[in-house]
Amino acid sequence: MALIVAKFGGTSVADIERIENAANKVAIEVEAGNKVVVVVSAMSGVTNTLVDYCSQISPLYDAREYDSVVSSGEQITSGLMAMALQKRGIDARSWLGWQIPIRTDNVHGRARIKSIDTDELHKRLNNSEVAVVPGFQGVTELGRISTLGRGGSDTSAVALAAALCADRCDIYTDVSGVSTADPRIVPLAKKINKISYEEMLELASLGSKVLQTRSVEMGAKNAVPIQVLSSFDDEVGSAMAGTLVTTEDKIMEQEIVSGIAHNRDEAKITVVGVQDVPGIAAKLFGVLASAAVNVDMIVQNISADGLTDMTFTVPRTELDLAVKTLNDGVDLQYKEIIVNDKMAKISVVGIGMKSHAGVANTMFKTLADKNINIYVISTSEIKISILIDDDYTELAVRSLHAAYGLDKE
Ligand code: ASP
Ligand code: MG
Repeated sequence: MALIVAKFGGTSVADIERIENAANKVAIEVEAGNKVVVVVSAMSGVTNTLVDYCSQISPLYDAREYDSVVSSGEQITSGLMAMALQKRGIDARSWLGWQIPIRTDNVHGRARIKSIDTDELHKRLNNSEVAVVPGFQGVTELGRISTLGRGGSDTSAVALAAALCADRCDIYTDVSGVSTADPRIVPLAKKINKISYEEMLELASLGSKVLQTRSVEMGAKNAVPIQVLSSFDDEVGSAMAGTLVTTEDKIMEQEIVSGIAHNRDEAKITVVGVQDVPGIAAKLFGVLASAAVNVDMIVQNISADGLTDMTFTVPRTELDLAVKTLNDGVDLQYKEIIVNDKMAKISVVGIGMKSHAGVANTMFKTLADKNINIYVISTSEIKISILIDDDYTELAVRSLHAAYGLDKE
């Protein structure tokens, strides 16, 4: 018998049939003697519609009212889920964020959870009740409804699992787990059975959008085992058929490289001929930061005649804002700005890199053999990222997948 938090994402509760399907899974877990807290997202597409309603009223809406609008999608699915469970003879009820309460700070639109009261939930769980909790929402210190940022239901689920000291947090979604690469690009990509929080964080922030980054951080901090699995597969969470995100020491057969991630949403900017004196990087990246531009990879050339070039990447959608900011930038002198908006970042991720040499070299050699040019390189202890022309994304990801032995059965 275990205490499980089971979270169903938007596609898993997209219509009544799917809510019934999700309820069947919960019923199987309950019948097996487990205590279950269910966390639900809004039906897929609903949150987007609600966000759109707000923007139609005013582009400068009151963030507190935005939260009361966009949190409503989850209220609908939690009530429906409770009914579906009741229909199956399960004692279930919905608990809105304020009723538990899930307390957050006052930062509307991207609030952070501060505490969750679990006394009442524990009491009910011990009485064989199932609690259904809407993800994404909480209540502020001032008693207003807050939301946790897009994709925040994952974080609600992991936070509840941590607060309840649950044995596991199952995240039901529309893929069977986390794969070694995007299966749409690499037909030989495979589901990863176990992955460390560290690797998952790298993959989550690299655009393999299975889990909200913040939920992985929270799972790591509280050592909550998180399983990613598909609600369209036959198995329930307790069959452990998905990908388990866990601590490094629980992973026996460690691959050197666990996965290849790619992000095609990259643009490269080179600011040519800035002065090579102290404070230039602070000034350049300072103006970009105050314009809320997200800078990722950065390289500075060696200096010639007291001048140097700065090359960095930003999300493609922020390219125009970045260039405009630099053009208007207070007393920043440079010769010209060169941009390329068709770049992709390819990353190989694996904790095995910590203890194995030659991982970077395999990457460079593989790309060289395919005649793919590398523009920027950045590394961390468990990741090597390179920037290439977007046109070569498929070729690069496939070749690297093979080169690191991930194609094998
Ligand atoms: N419904 C919210 C969103 O789409 C939260 C979630 O599903 O995680 O962002
Ligand atoms: Mg999601």
